[in-house]
Amino acid sequence: MSASTKHDLNSHLWDTSALYRDSVIQLDEAARVMNLDQNIAERLKVPKRAMIVSVPIRLDNGSIKVFEGYRVQHNMTLGPGKGGIRFHPEVNLSEVAGLAMLMSFKCSLAGLPLGGAKGGIRVDPNQLSRQEHQSLMRRYTTEINMIIGPDKDIPAPDIGTDSQHMAWMMDTFSQENGYTIPGVVTGKPVEIGGSLGRAESTGRGVIYTVQHAAKHLHKVGKAGPKIDASTTVAVHGFGKVGAVAALEIYNLGCKVLAVSDWKGAILNKNGLNIPKVIEWVVKNGTVVGYAEAEEISNADLLALNVDVLIPAAIDGVITEENVSTVKAKIIAEGANGPATAGALNQLEERGAFIIPDVLCNAGGVIVSYFEWVQGLQNFFWNEAEVNEKLAEVMDNAFKRVMDQQMKYKCGMKTAALITGVDRLNKAMLLRGLFP
Ligand code: GLU
Repeated sequence: MSASTKHDLNSHLWDTSALYRDSVIQLDEAARVMNLDQNIAERLKVPKRAMIVSVPIRLDNGSIKVFEGYRVQHNMTLGPGKGGIRFHPEVNLSEVAGLAMLMSFKCSLAGLPLGGAKGGIRVDPNQLSRQEHQSLMRRYTTEINMIIGPDKDIPAPDIGTDSQHMAWMMDTFSQENGYTIPGVVTGKPVEIGGSLGRAESTGRGVIYTVQHAAKHLHKVGKAGPKIDASTTVAVHGFGKVGAVAALEIYNLGCKVLAVSDWKGAILNKNGLNIPKVIEWVVKNGTVVGYAEAEEISNADLLALNVDVLIPAAIDGVITEENVSTVKAKIIAEGANGPATAGALNQLEERGAFIIPDVLCNAGGVIVSYFEWVQGLQNFFWNEAEVNEKLAEVMDNAFKRVMDQQMKYKCGMKTAALITGVDRLNKAMLLRGLFP
């Protein structure tokens, strides 16, 4: 049997989504460049464990609807599984598996004692009432309760879910066990054991990495933006990550020319007033209609000639089809997998600096880790302490990735994956293969 047939047989269950296939392509490239032990590479290509559950709920109109839910634990060598839960109409087992794989590399590269996991429910969250959201989250928690827990696997918010969903999840898990177990989730409201600064942490971390990227480009003598009033920015996706990233970089004095959401995009060539855009979104639920801007399409936004482009919405928005239109100098992957492997190669060939997702958006899981640690000790930090520690962990992570990039002279995504895989590889070899 040829190696490729063998691989196909091993992975047929998982590789039906573009995101999973892309993650394996990128892992293969990292494994090739770092000359990774083939046995470790094969083990990392498939998740350790996955659960598919039916989630029946009673809708507000009295009828019952059954949704499909997943929790995938990719690798738990370094510690309990960690990763968000996504409510999205296109979620499937393969996509969740790919996202769980990214979490393993993200946690490892950030130096956290955590493994990689991810969950999801195939549902359009915009079609559900608040009560239906609650029923879905609670029933899903019950269905997966035997594989989650503070020492086993710790969910968090992701696309379509927020701190309220985590409160319901924590409450359900606690009710079932008979006592309060805050450590089962992170990204909880502060009132019930959440960490200060968690809600802003992903967007904040994105901007730390943009500042590092700009400094790095100057250090190596490449013309790069300075991150000041001369810097132009576009943010694709104005949600939990994008809106915070836009505000942080606006507060640094940069000009955020355009932002977008699933309904459309807005542009102001002199720079948007981001606090006012946020106010507008809180009232209207979308950036569209904001007065001091012209409406453009999401495709137009991605093609703007800006210094920094932050795709912070969802995976697969920059592909080989539209990559030739992307002109930004720095591309900061706020979302998981927003650019495909092929698109990233083309961007790097034309000299763009990529800040890969597993580094760029690691701020979220880093503060999740802080939340978990604070909860275990029942000792809570102020926001300045959280931010200071976040900056320190992100600085070190950025430096480790740049060291690998210098060592192997490879692309940034490859360097980031090598950083994550290297630590995981050492841990897997030390623990050995059971039995
Ligand atoms: N969903 C976020 C991510 O993709 C955060 C995960 C977490 O905090 O566990 O990194």
